[in-house]
Formats: sequence, C-alpha cells, structure tokens
Amino acid sequence: MGRQVAMVFDLNKCIGCQTCSVACKVLWTNENGKRDMWWCTVNTQPGRGTPRDWESMGGGYDANGNRIDGHLPTAEEFGGTSEYNWQSVYASAQKTHLGPKGAAPTWAMNWDEDQGAGEYPNSYFFYLPRICNHCTRPACVEACPNEAMYKRDDFGLVLRDEVRCQGAQECARACPYKKVYFDQAAKIGNHCIGCFPRLEKGVAPACVRQCPGRAAFIGYRDRDGGAVNKLVDEWEVALPLHPEWNTEPNVFYVPPLSPFAVRPDGSIEEGRQRIPKEYLESLFGPRATTALQTLETEMAKRRRGEPSELLDILIGYRWTEFLGPFDRDPAEIVWN
Ligand code: SF4
Ligand code: SF4
Ligand code: SF4
Repeated sequence: MGRQVAMVFDLNKCIGCQTCSVACKVLWTNENGKRDMWWCTVNTQPGRGTPRDWESMGGGYDANGNRIDGHLPTAEEFGGTSEYNWQSVYASAQKTHLGPKGAAPTWAMNWDEDQGAGEYPNSYFFYLPRICNHCTRPACVEACPNEAMYKRDDFGLVLRDEVRCQGAQECARACPYKKVYFDQAAKIGNHCIGCFPRLEKGVAPACVRQCPGRAAFIGYRDRDGGAVNKLVDEWEVALPLHPEWNTEPNVFYVPPLSPFAVRPDGSIEEGRQRIPKEYLESLFGPRATTALQTLETEMAKRRRGEPSELLDILIGYRWTEFLGPFDRDPAEIVWN
C-alpha cells in the first residue's frame, strides 16, 4: 500500500477570503467548458452551500458498506447558469454595469454567504473550505462504469483517466460531498486533482500554499511526526467532515470555537459556546466536542504561560511548517 496525503483546515483561522478557491480556479479550471467549476469552494455554515443543499443529496456508503446512489446535482443547483452582459459593457458608451443577462439567477457559488443561523445576539456562522477529500474508500471510484476513476498509489489521490471517462456522471451521484463537476466542452467529469503535478515536485497545492489565513496544512497520514499526523492522529483535534458517509475522507477540519453566548440581559454566559455543539457534532461526528475541549485546555495552558505543542503547531511560527514535505518554492522550479 502506498502513502496517503492529507490536508487539515483550521476553521478557527479560515477567514473566508476565497483565495484558495481563486488560486485553484486560475490554475486548473479557467478553460472553456470549465467556467462554472470551483474545485475548491468556501461556504458559510450553517448554510445551503454549493451545490445548493449538497448535504442532503446522498451518496457514499451505508453502515453495512452498501454504496448509496445519490442525487446528481444540476447546473442550476451549482449556481453556474448565469450569463453576463459582457458585450453590453464593452460596447456601451455610457457606464453600463456588469450583471446577469436574461433571467435573474436563483443560486450562485456563494449565494448565501455570511447568513449563518441563530437569533441575534447569538447568531453565528463559520467558513468551511471544501475540496475533493481523496477518500480512502472513494465511492466515486466504485461507481464509475468505465473504470476511469482510480486511487494513485504514491499520494493516495483519487484521479480520473480522461481518456476512459465517458461523462456517465455516476461518480458525481456517488460522491456524498458533491465535489464532481461536468466539463461542458469535453463532456467528461472533472474534480480536484490534488495538484499532483505540484506534489511531484515537492510543491504544496495552490489552495494550501496561497492561504493567507495560514489555515491549511498538508502532509502524509503516516506516523511521521508532521503537523497533519499530529493534528489528526496524536492530538485528535482535526476531524473528517460527515464521517457517517463512510468514505473515509483525507481532508480534516479543526472545528471552530466561538464567542460565548449572550443572555437576554446582555451579560456573557461564560463557558457556553455560541455555536451549538450538536451542530458541530452533526458535521464532524461525536468527537467534535472532545476536540474543542482539547483546544480550550491547551489555550488555557498557554494563557498561564505554559508550553503547548498543539498551539505551537496551529499557530505555525514559520509558515512553511504548514506545507510539510511539500515546502519547495514553485518559483524555483522548471515546469515542463
Ligand atoms: Fe480560508 Fe485560507 Fe481559503 Fe482564505 S484561502 S478562504 S483563509 S482556507
Ligand atoms: Fe470521490 Fe467525492 Fe471522495 Fe472525492 S470526495 S474521493 S469525488 S467520493
Ligand atoms: Fe485545486 Fe489543487 Fe486545491 Fe485541489 S488541491 S482544490 S486542484 S488547488
């Protein structure tokens, strides 16, 4: 068995800036046919997200290991159906603003951004970056009738043979995270490739390297003492999203702490996080509460001036610590 690359997003540091989304977009999906694709998306939670209501579309495996055929998201649910009035803007002598052409859109990639949930003053939201999880049990691979999907041995990435892919979209139905897109020009599926040409040269994926919040980590799942290994397997503060879908994702999240709740009289309710723990457990499983307790314990230690390996890792005093073995500068590399 080969090695498995994994990523961690610290949701306490993600500022929802979409740099990761755009870094991926300009690198991999700026061609004709891929215009509406966002292999990396950052939505606010709670929210309906991208594609709209993706969390209830189904896919993955049931508790008995049977694969579940989910819903195939439509272009409208992805929110990529709008045409823009580019020509009017170019041709107009007056100031015509860029906007949708024809029917008003009903959804878009960040349609419900920053809405969140809860009643003021206890309203809340947080950002959730999502890419393909390069799952250990990838339902997309099993579902493909053309044997186009495979798991690459050296990095554990789930990739697609574009020659074999016939655009059946069974992978998109099977993926419970709804992270498979359709190339309208080539008529084949597309999804995050884990930036494998960069990994091959020791360079971190664009979404990780360019994150200004330093919220993203990359490394191997091996017990190699790297940040990913420590956060996932030793400190157990980085958790998979919707583990109950049973695809064993290799993208992990440090769940968000939140401000304390406010009582009706305006006083602070010390110790009660504004984000309900039930909600976080619905996303990250029952270990979410323990992970938050670990974070709070370690933060208290640092406030007392005591050392904390966990907080040192999460803070990352040198930013290349986030990149694990993929810390080479892409500017120094000759790309073929
Ligand atoms: Fe969050 Fe980093 Fe992406 Fe910005 S670039 S949205 S901070 S993960
Ligand atoms: Fe496949 Fe979806 Fe898992 Fe990616 S996230 S490996 S597309 S099942
Ligand atoms: Fe895009 Fe690379 Fe990040 Fe995948 S790993 S979302 S291909 S930038």
